[in-house]
Amino acid sequence: MTDSEHNLHDKRVIIVSNRLPVSVSRKRGSLKIFPSVGGLATGLSSFHKQQNGLWVGWPGIKPGNQKSKSEIENILRSDYNCLPVFLSDTELKKYYYGFSNRTLWPLFHYFSTYCTYDPSEWETYKHVNQIFCDRILEVIKPGDMVWVHDYHLLLLPGMLRRETPDTTIGFFLHIPFPSMEIFRHLPWREKILRGMLGADLIGFHTYDYTRHFLSCCLRILGLEQVYGQVITDNRMVKVDTFPMGIDADKFSETAKSPKVEKKVKRLQKKLQTEKIILSVDRLDFTKGIPERLRAFELFLERHPYWHKKITYVFLCVPSRSKVQEYRLLKKEIDELVGRINGRFDTPEWQPILYMYRSLPFEELISLYSAADLALVTPLRDGMNLVAKEYLACQCESGKGALVLSETAGSAAELGEAIIVNPNDIEMTADAIARGLSVPEKEVKNSVCHMAGRIKEYNVFRWTEDFINHLAETEEKQELNRQYFLTDKHQQTLKDNYEKASRRLLMLDYDGTLVYLEKRPELAQPDPELLDLLTKLQEDPKNSVVIVSGRDKECLSRWLNDTGVEMVAEHGTWMQVKNAETWQLSTAGLTDDWKKNIYPILRTFSVRTPGSFVEEKAFALAWHYRKADPALGDLRSKELMDALHDILAGTDLQILQGNKVLEIKPMGVNKGNAALHWLGDEQQWDFIMAAGDDWTDEDIFAVLPEKAWSIKVGFVPFTRARYFLESPEKLKNILRSLIAVNQ
Ligand code: UDP
Repeated sequence: MTDSEHNLHDKRVIIVSNRLPVSVSRKRGSLKIFPSVGGLATGLSSFHKQQNGLWVGWPGIKPGNQKSKSEIENILRSDYNCLPVFLSDTELKKYYYGFSNRTLWPLFHYFSTYCTYDPSEWETYKHVNQIFCDRILEVIKPGDMVWVHDYHLLLLPGMLRRETPDTTIGFFLHIPFPSMEIFRHLPWREKILRGMLGADLIGFHTYDYTRHFLSCCLRILGLEQVYGQVITDNRMVKVDTFPMGIDADKFSETAKSPKVEKKVKRLQKKLQTEKIILSVDRLDFTKGIPERLRAFELFLERHPYWHKKITYVFLCVPSRSKVQEYRLLKKEIDELVGRINGRFDTPEWQPILYMYRSLPFEELISLYSAADLALVTPLRDGMNLVAKEYLACQCESGKGALVLSETAGSAAELGEAIIVNPNDIEMTADAIARGLSVPEKEVKNSVCHMAGRIKEYNVFRWTEDFINHLAETEEKQELNRQYFLTDKHQQTLKDNYEKASRRLLMLDYDGTLVYLEKRPELAQPDPELLDLLTKLQEDPKNSVVIVSGRDKECLSRWLNDTGVEMVAEHGTWMQVKNAETWQLSTAGLTDDWKKNIYPILRTFSVRTPGSFVEEKAFALAWHYRKADPALGDLRSKELMDALHDILAGTDLQILQGNKVLEIKPMGVNKGNAALHWLGDEQQWDFIMAAGDDWTDEDIFAVLPEKAWSIKVGFVPFTRARYFLESPEKLKNILRSLIAVNQ
């Protein structure tokens, strides 16, 4: 047993979802409580019972008076370990039917034209997330982990993080996470991302959703990822993929039960057709129902051979019938079914058996078992459990083929199915015909493969996997806390500073004292930064050196008046205290190589919109901070490759900075320049260095062990002892040091 598995059993996990795993209703005054049957409730319920945790969510009933509230709460707490969150009708209307289902649901499923962006619904969404947060705070104990589920509660992780900073929080999204182009339509996009980033671990069903989320973090919040880790607020957030499974044994065992076998025979006898085609979906515009019906109609048109030999059992489960779009969709579906049946039926045969209702579990299983072909063709679906449930029921007989849409999350795992583009009516019609005539052996083979995987990575494995990763993340956070310059570390730094009588502060400029800007000239110091540097360097105990890659003219123009010492062009030039002018740090530097390298950099800047070449006295730099981040990264790798061979055997080197590549003579680097001050390190009793990119690593490398070395930003490998998230945070520390002096 690993440590993280051990943790899993020690910790209480508070599960939070919009709905509780039970539904409460009141009939003639007495309370009725039914367990929910959904995949999430089934999967998590056994974990919930086993670990004696707590489940927080809406109980599905109006609160009523205080007495009724307490009665519901007591029963749910004592018999089900559930904590109800009561919501008023207005809250429910605006938070659930409104923002969750008329903004987030359509947007995340790429139906942006169905979205409403109503500020008052957004306000209620925030308010209800806060109600959930407050409810959790009433019961949370030190050491508890919290696992938040789905799109109704995207802000909750962030709210909890603010209130209980050390709690380990997981978040799982059960619907797709859309690409940046779609997500950015949302007026509250930053707040939603920040809310999610309150978690320590964020899980999605597929790698594509994970990728989209990380890309939104980069492009909307400017947060880079390293191996699926994002740093925000001096914390690491892990983003990963966990495809949700089902309780496969429950489905396959029930399918084998005599009761279900009897039902299957009865159904086959009633329908009197050779083959049964099945689809099961909630009535939702994401499920591609009209498209599928049209494909079925085309199939009947093109394949008269199958007339009277098949029945399409179409189970449509009512859903969100209070929302106008859903009512319109229902009308469209009714009309389509009527049209197709009217067009093809005969006195003894009706092609579509349409059921608009929800079925009890065993009835559903008998449909899954009786079917010879299932059509699962959503236009967009986070995962789609129906496909997995159908296959689990088919694993014994292995007779049922599956037509599956490429835009269902489950398609990533069920590659042996007949995959279709659900918008392509012809393709889907052909797939139906193919699905009916695939040789038995071939179907059995593919069903067995897929069912095997479904059995193995079932919902219990999924839960365990997520929780184990969450526990691992918790351990890593502990470890990370040593590296992040936390409040505690900052206090020690301040104490050391206060006691010291000779202090050296070596600070990089871009990305360290100021945020990177699209164009270098925009990163000019503001009066506040100038004042900060002036005050720091006015203290006679301090030597403040700005160690930059910028050219000396720019540094002089911007920083001369502060009185700080300076290093320009990554160590080529130095301006030391009391010296009149800049001096070269190394003798014998030449620049005749520039004419050969410049054209190469120019070619890259032409091919990469937003990038440009900067010429310095003894260096050339290719900047790409203004370019599209992904294209910039790709081109920088290509440029490194291109230069690698050309520079071999020369005394030139490539320095990789933050969104910049610089070519300059070997041996010239910030580390060598720093030695000018560090040469006699005994003279300093406090040394602090801060930088954000690879060029600053050369300074970190030459620092004595006792020095405070700070990496601004997060990379997996650095020589610095501490991480700090942003220039703003570094400036806060510097400000606090000035206060020490006063
Ligand atoms: N389902 C149900 N009753 C029915 C038909 C379906 O409870 O009469 C369940 C089905 O077993 C499946 C879920 O509804 O677990 C549908 O999940 P899916 O992921 O396919 O789609 P969602 O409705 O979550 O978008």
